[in-house]
Amino acid sequence: MIGTLDAKIPSGPLDRKWQSHRDHSRLVSPNNRRKFEIIVVGSGLAGGSAAATLGELGYRVKCFCFQDSPRRAHSIAAQGGINAAKNYQNDGDSVYRLFYDTIKGGDFRSREANVYRLAEVSNLIIDQCVEQGVPFAREYGGLLANRSFGGAQVSRTFYARGQTGQQLLLGCYQALCRQIAAGTVQMFPQTEMLDIVVVDGHAKGIITRNLLTGKIDKYPADAVVLATGGYGNAFYLSTNARGCNVTATYRAYKKGALFANPCFTQIHPTCIPQSGDYQSKLTLMSESLRNDGRVWVPKRKEDCQKPPDQLPEQDRDYYLERKYPSFGNLAPRDISSRAAKEVCDEGRGVGPSGRGVYLDFADAIKRLGEDTIRERYGNLFEIYLKITGENAYKMPMRIYPAVHYTMGGLWVDYNLMSNLPGLHVIGEANFSDHGANRLGASALMQGLADGYFILPYTLPNYLAGQMGKRPSTDHAEFKKAETDVRAKIDNILRVNGNRSLDSIHRELGALLWNKCGMARNAEGLREALAKIPELRDEFWRTVRVPGKGQDFNQSLERAGRVADFLEFAELMCIDALERDESCGGHFREEHQTPDGEALRDDDNFATVFAWEFQGNGQIAAPKLHREPLHFETVHLAQRSYK
Ligand SMILES: Cc1cc2nc3c(=O)[nH]c(=O)nc-3n(C[C@H](O)[C@H](O)[C@H](O)COP(=O)(O)OP(=O)(O)OC[C@H]3O[C@@H](n4cnc5c(N)ncnc54)[C@H](O)[C@@H]3O)c2cc1C
Repeated sequence: MIGTLDAKIPSGPLDRKWQSHRDHSRLVSPNNRRKFEIIVVGSGLAGGSAAATLGELGYRVKCFCFQDSPRRAHSIAAQGGINAAKNYQNDGDSVYRLFYDTIKGGDFRSREANVYRLAEVSNLIIDQCVEQGVPFAREYGGLLANRSFGGAQVSRTFYARGQTGQQLLLGCYQALCRQIAAGTVQMFPQTEMLDIVVVDGHAKGIITRNLLTGKIDKYPADAVVLATGGYGNAFYLSTNARGCNVTATYRAYKKGALFANPCFTQIHPTCIPQSGDYQSKLTLMSESLRNDGRVWVPKRKEDCQKPPDQLPEQDRDYYLERKYPSFGNLAPRDISSRAAKEVCDEGRGVGPSGRGVYLDFADAIKRLGEDTIRERYGNLFEIYLKITGENAYKMPMRIYPAVHYTMGGLWVDYNLMSNLPGLHVIGEANFSDHGANRLGASALMQGLADGYFILPYTLPNYLAGQMGKRPSTDHAEFKKAETDVRAKIDNILRVNGNRSLDSIHRELGALLWNKCGMARNAEGLREALAKIPELRDEFWRTVRVPGKGQDFNQSLERAGRVADFLEFAELMCIDALERDESCGGHFREEHQTPDGEALRDDDNFATVFAWEFQGNGQIAAPKLHREPLHFETVHLAQRSYK
């Protein structure tokens, strides 16, 4: 039974909370650290940095990922950059301003204390990564370069061309490898966590499947850390890597961990438009491009089929610059995405499907020269050319919003611990810092803040009281969890139907996109809630998964993930229906300002929604817990980027 949710936010002034918390947290002495075993599931930027740091501190770490190498975590795809409040540009940035931009960007639906801490540690991340040798872009004189991202009027984004995630991950991977060589971290690639094990109310282990051999294993631990990324692929089409999924966090939810704000999804405005029904993935064109690219559509519907270079200036609508003059093309993602949808809904979209807007570099090339643009974004232009066959140096890119990131995740307190003692959740897998809309370049900041600088301080606080409490795998809970995992696999293989997995997942994705995507309303959400169980039923009657369990079987891997999406989708829609307001990326059509902006209802919804699984193995209406958000420093206001 879960009582009142306690976020464990330290008392005292906002800018002293983190220091004071560290001063008073419990510690584990160096000689005792090697007596603790920590499981870290995930080796992207969040998990990799946590595993490396905990290993360096002397804990014994087991780190798991489903890819063949930690270097292939989805974090590698991050393009544009990572924020920090260094104020190298001397343009007015500060820790407070990064904090404020992030809280406002999230439409006042995140905790002040967490976000302030994130802004505070942001500068340490840059120092750490530079010392690892991450090749951030530099100015002519050698100083680190910065650019701007949406929702900010300063330049605070550090970057390595359009490959920032890759370079950061290589730095993190080196740190991880050092610990692997030192014997403090044991790496388990191609191993999927399929359940967590809860003993006496604490998370004390996991059940895994070796993806090469199909072998099911049990691992005990003193604490479990989930760093398993986001669930954008519930929508089938997204900018996420194909492997991203909700399985680890959803199965933890079914074991009692609360899932917070599952309907908060980020739709990114600058992706290459979908080109066909059988496409399996969408591609991001980094937000950094909006530093130099100008977004427009024709003013008149009749002009939409004309080549862009035949439309003179007076016939173009630079709608972001027109509607949001102070932020212009760098308006935040939720707002820019909705603006693109609006012009396309009006019939002014471009490209074959009519669901596209232009991102035009002609002015920037005239002003700065093609070489400078190539230097800044060359690899993105190359990706665009390979996918569309169009040269964006010569004609504008066509872009359209797509699912990109999930702000929802497992509920955690200030220590990044879920309501299940011992289960810590970091990176995109938790819900903590971005409220209802994440600002660009803040996910990498959060993942690395959690892994390098926050969890290593907060985990000992839990571990200090856990000496000698690690259970053996003979414990009945391990046996039960293993039996359940095996039964689920057998059930999937037993269906032996004739419908392809992809066709079911695609149908679920289209339903979510239409009813719980960029715009939602109560009627549509109710429709989705009626259809999802039917689709789930269809899966369990008709899905075809060839091969067997005791073998390398990618269809089986994916089937397990799709089965979880088919349950989780319902939770997303329940959450979206219950939150009867608009905020950030959660745009309920019933609640909008006369200008069509999101209309919050702070009196009733300035809270985190945290859902408790009630099904005891079945899917039943989850129970809602509310964590009220208290704002002591910022003033709640209608978000404006005008
Ligand atoms: C195309 C693209 C570009 C982006 N660009 C930027 C950017 O420029 N700046 C920015 O700040 N953010 C960006 N983001 C967002 C950012 O990349 C992610 O939010 C972030 O990298 C997530 O890191 P993570 O460590 O939490 O998870 P991930 O990198 O997704 O890692 C998840 C890890 O968990 C493992 N895992 C998952 N489930 C299991 C399981 N059941 N068992 C075992 N292992 C499991 C995986 O193997 C992997 O190792 C971008 C996102 C996309 C899609």
